[in-house]
Amino acid sequence: MVKARKTFKIITYGCQMNQRDSEMMADLLQEAGYEPVAQEEEAGVIILDTCCVREKAENKVYGKLGQIEGLKSSNPDLVIAVTGCMVQQPGVAEKIRQQAPYVDLLLGTGNLQELPQLIEEIKAMHRPRVVVGEQEGQVVEDLPRRRARGAQAFVTITYGCNNFCTYCIVPYVRGRERSRRPENIIKEVKELVDQGVIEVTLLGQNVNSYGRDLENGINFAGLLERVNDVEGLKRIRYVTSHPRDFTPELVTTISQLDKVCEHVHLPVQAGSNRILELMHRGYTREHYLELVADLRRQIPGISLTTDLIVGFPGETEADFEDTLDLVARVQFDNAFTFMFSPRRGTEAAIMPGQLPTATKKERLKRLMELQNRISLAKNEALVGQEVEILVEGPSKTDPDQLSGRTRTNKLVIFPGDQSLTGRLVKVRLTRAQTWLLKGEMVDG
Ligand code: SF4
Repeated sequence: MVKARKTFKIITYGCQMNQRDSEMMADLLQEAGYEPVAQEEEAGVIILDTCCVREKAENKVYGKLGQIEGLKSSNPDLVIAVTGCMVQQPGVAEKIRQQAPYVDLLLGTGNLQELPQLIEEIKAMHRPRVVVGEQEGQVVEDLPRRRARGAQAFVTITYGCNNFCTYCIVPYVRGRERSRRPENIIKEVKELVDQGVIEVTLLGQNVNSYGRDLENGINFAGLLERVNDVEGLKRIRYVTSHPRDFTPELVTTISQLDKVCEHVHLPVQAGSNRILELMHRGYTREHYLELVADLRRQIPGISLTTDLIVGFPGETEADFEDTLDLVARVQFDNAFTFMFSPRRGTEAAIMPGQLPTATKKERLKRLMELQNRISLAKNEALVGQEVEILVEGPSKTDPDQLSGRTRTNKLVIFPGDQSLTGRLVKVRLTRAQTWLLKGEMVDG
């Protein structure tokens, strides 16, 4: 008798932490004999790896569950699982069970390693499971990591967050901050390099506070030094940095390490000290501007990107103008701009002074117009330069061309052969747009 194929499809929402979790689940399932498939219709297991940072992402998940319901009716053996931050939120597992009773498994982010076993149990018992454990103190190590996918890889260095920014749900759903031991991180990076990876991105909600919970005294600067020593590795990136914890020592260390890329994603969120305090960010605009000046002084050519929230509760026109002013002063290469949206369970959701959507929309528009002008001007200033690109593959917008990124994380599109994917090439920048640059290869 021919054995039925075991197949899975993972649909990922949200940030790079979720992307890394999804990779890990894919590795676990492949170890257990499952094959990934491109289409949901072909899958025996469908997993939604969810995000609850924004309401929009949550609504998308409910919409997707509605679509998948039809597949379950035509294939009762289909296993549907929901994991990610949404499941960790109090009351959400119950809500999903009510709205989508055909979901077989609700799995917490600290329980991912149990996935293959749970799927087998569900198949055998035909009974749904909810497994959402406490995350405190938990750092899961030695999970199987299959062959790297291409030349780039994410490596988690911390889990959770201690900051409790008043608008953010992450500390509630991902738990307190836990650092992975440096020897385990280095081992993972070395294994990835042996498999052909040349660029790693170190991941954590606040990478700058790495090591605070470890007894051996290592900090993020020390970790970067050790990762920089890994032979064969060419580029190191890291997200996300917290401006409060970005020490002068770290700036100097980064400036001295040849593999650490000249790009920092440094979420500022607002330009008004009053709003920064209400957000519980722990720094002032003056501190932020000094940090930016120090980064630019010590790392010439560094690119800076940020996250900005407009319409935080109580934000006045003057507060908003402080944000515009800060953006104009810093001249970010790029910014992810968001309209404040209250997340249930956070302090900001019940703060007085919630603003009307029309005000938030109008401010967002003004902010985006300013940032787009700056992004374009910054890219235009690069035209004519020759830069190193790590080729990521065919461009999403023009599959006949290649796309890749500079060390400064600029997206560049250029003609070239697909066989260059995963290689470092030299490209001359020929044309600038707001979000990307066009170029032509100089050699390679
Ligand atoms: S630093 Fe603030 S915004 Fe970032 S994950 Fe932690 S609480 Fe959320």
